[in-house]
Amino acid sequence: MAELTRRTLFGSTAGLAAGIGLIAPALGATAPMAPSGQEPGALRGSVADGKVTLPPLHQASEQNGEAPNPMPPGKRLGVAVVGLGALALENIIPGFGEAKSVRLTALVSGEPDKARIVAAQYGVPEKNLYSYADFDRIRDNPDIDIVYIVLPNAMHAEFTIRAAKAGKHVLCEKPMAATVAEAQSMVDACKQANVRLMIAYRLQYTPEHRTVIDLARSKAFGKVRMIEAVNGQNDAANGQWRQIKAMAGGGSLPDVGLYCLNAFRYITGEEPVEITAQMTHPANDPRFQQVEDIAMFTLRFPSGIVASGTSAYSFHESRFLRVHAETGWFGLDPAFGYDNLTLGINRKAGKASSMDSRRFTPKSQFAQEMDAFAASLHAGEEPHTPGAEGLQDMKIMAAIYQAAAGGGIVKLPLVTGLDTTRGPWPKALGPFVPA
Ligand code: NDP
Repeated sequence: MAELTRRTLFGSTAGLAAGIGLIAPALGATAPMAPSGQEPGALRGSVADGKVTLPPLHQASEQNGEAPNPMPPGKRLGVAVVGLGALALENIIPGFGEAKSVRLTALVSGEPDKARIVAAQYGVPEKNLYSYADFDRIRDNPDIDIVYIVLPNAMHAEFTIRAAKAGKHVLCEKPMAATVAEAQSMVDACKQANVRLMIAYRLQYTPEHRTVIDLARSKAFGKVRMIEAVNGQNDAANGQWRQIKAMAGGGSLPDVGLYCLNAFRYITGEEPVEITAQMTHPANDPRFQQVEDIAMFTLRFPSGIVASGTSAYSFHESRFLRVHAETGWFGLDPAFGYDNLTLGINRKAGKASSMDSRRFTPKSQFAQEMDAFAASLHAGEEPHTPGAEGLQDMKIMAAIYQAAAGGGIVKLPLVTGLDTTRGPWPKALGPFVPA
């Protein structure tokens, strides 16, 4: 490992011209000394394996930063984003700025003017712009390794299958599809084409949700007994595709209730065996002519843990998750948005009830999820949230609709073992260090 000191890093123009200047001549003997007797340049870090490491500036009791050390652009995997709507433009594409292992190389859109403007904003060459009609030409474009599908739910299957046939790996937004059959066809097509399919369950890659998983699985507060979650928002009555059943597959359940369902599954690692549900369809509200407003569902897991989830399209934004365990409860509020996720832990402290609150350094969830996919691809491994993970959620949501339609308690087959629908945690991301 070479030390980057004042002399080596900024010693001379010759040094700068030589890149990071490790061969620069000495600056002179007059560099001031720090009160500790150490030359201040010793704090300028070191390089090894193409990475810069900076020494901590603060005591171990304080937060210390970390250089992100992204891959050089030419080595990152190229991503084509398909569908330039709200999520793509407001969150995913800006997220590339924080990504370390992927870069935006192509756009697919039905609106050529919009695509050209976005391409100019983010430096995507015009030759890498596609329409839905000529999408299959991506096959001949070596700039594209991954296709990220950000279309209305009922279009996910078609574009996943076309991307797989073009030999590209697929990252597909949630919910995976509009129906179980479509989801199954996506898994089959990717397997047949020998490409990887990841469902964009962004929260599974965040330190906030991984900490909740760790607290539950390590039994930090004894056995988990019950989990509850709400994910609701008040949507505009604008006739958007989310309000058309054939485009969305359902209402609030597959859109936002899915986050509650998926969290129950990844926190426990188990699959539910019994389901009950109720839904509302407020009369005379144009939003709910075809899809449900509120979806309330309960799950019973093989270990005895029960979970209660609620989603909605008609009340003010409310997004929380709480895990009730024997000697404490813990959870996130807000739990399911893009930022400000806050962990709370409640337990007994002597004669008092203690409330502990933890905030994590903000990071783009989309950068984290895309880098995780790249890490799995580099390792030749199944992604942590593969097609099987999305397919299982689709099957459970079908059972929730069945229960809500008067199906009583709907039974699902017993699945033994934990995390049976998930791939390994990508090693390149390093071991998870609980907060
Ligand atoms: P938008 O309606 O904002 O964007 C969808 C885009 O799809 C459109 O802008 C359009 O792009 C393209 N499109 C192609 N055909 C149609 C069509 N017939 N009707 C409407 N749009 C069409 O949706 P979102 O961006 O909010 O959602 C896209 C996907 O992302 C959904 O699957 C949704 O569930 C998921 N999502 C995930 C979130 C997450 O947190 N992970 C959050 C929000 C959404 P163009 O004009 O370029 O052709």
